[in-house]
Amino acid sequence: MDECIFCRISQGDIPADKVFEDDTVVAFRDLNPQAPTHILVIPRRHIATLNDIDNDAEAIIGRMYGAAREVAAAEGLAEAGFRTVMNCNEAGGQTVFHIHLHLLGGRMMHWPPG
Ligand code: AMP
Repeated sequence: MDECIFCRISQGDIPADKVFEDDTVVAFRDLNPQAPTHILVIPRRHIATLNDIDNDAEAIIGRMYGAAREVAAAEGLAEAGFRTVMNCNEAGGQTVFHIHLHLLGGRMMHWPPG
């Protein structure tokens, strides 16, 4: 998926402010942060939307949450709390079609989200 911007970030072809990476996932700071800390956790494997998760990919989703937990702790967010969000397709607000978990923290979150 050469044209996918998040694949290119994963491969190191496009710079990003990476905070974590392993064989399965990469985490980097969002270019347009919506909170004092706003990090995206993506899988290295190209998966367009949450609708495209198959049985194999369920383990990847688990790793994304594991990485989010580790990054939240490293960023000092664990005790106060934080939010994780994955948008799906147009009505869900998805704009980049390579799944990503938003990790937001550093301020009070509101509910319901807009
Ligand atoms: P979503 O609307 O859920 O698809 O979220 C896409 C997110 O990706 C937005 O919060 C963007 O600000 C962010 N984004 C897009 N391009 C980049 C990039 N090159 N580096 C970091 N964040 C990006």
